[in-house]
Amino acid sequence: MNQELEYLVQLQEIDLRIREQELAQEQYPSAVTELEQAIAKAKNALDHASKKLQKSESEKKTFEDQIEQVKSQLDKSQERLNSIKTNREYDAVHAEIEAQKHMLATAETKSKNFLDDLTRMQANVDKCAAEFEQIKGENEPKIADLKEKIGSIDSKIAAISKERDVIIPKISKQYLRSYDLIHKKRKNGKAISYVATRTCGICYKVLEPQLINEIKRGLKMILCQNCGSILIWEDRSKGNT
Ligand SMILES: [Zn+2]
Repeated sequence: MNQELEYLVQLQEIDLRIREQELAQEQYPSAVTELEQAIAKAKNALDHASKKLQKSESEKKTFEDQIEQVKSQLDKSQERLNSIKTNREYDAVHAEIEAQKHMLATAETKSKNFLDDLTRMQANVDKCAAEFEQIKGENEPKIADLKEKIGSIDSKIAAISKERDVIIPKISKQYLRSYDLIHKKRKNGKAISYVATRTCGICYKVLEPQLINEIKRGLKMILCQNCGSILIWEDRSKGNT
């Protein structure tokens, strides 16, 4: 194959490697954010569950203090019964005692419900903690890996660009112009179309047999009349020149 076409093939390969790094540069930061957000979400769920549990525990404590108060009031009321002089007083204290006993009975049921709630909340805290640890354990190494990659992209691109600088002077302006025109126009940067059978490898236009022969010979640059790609016989891409 024409030496310059050979260099164009190499140039394309270099540019695709640069493109790959640039894509990574675009995509890695959002991948890092996504992984970090997943950790933060799990942490939030755990914090929320823990706060709920704490709140319930302190409510239970207040409730138990109230029970203790009622109990001591009940003791006092019962003591007063012994020193009562009138019937009216007796009825009043008796009513007080009945009310206090009733309060204690209700409180006991409520206390049992409190315990059930606390057990359930503790189980939820444990579940959230396990999930948080798992996500953190999975995502943190990935984040570190991506950050390391992000940090090395610039130097990788610089290294590949040096290869590009070596190739460029070896290619004529006319060839470079044709290449650049298509390379810059295409999102994927592909300017070379490898022909394997009878069609353009990029736009799949069927090519004339005579054109195929010329592409196979590879003596000059041939552009696809339909899409403008530089047509290269596929075997050339594998180095079988
Ligand atoms: Zn084409």
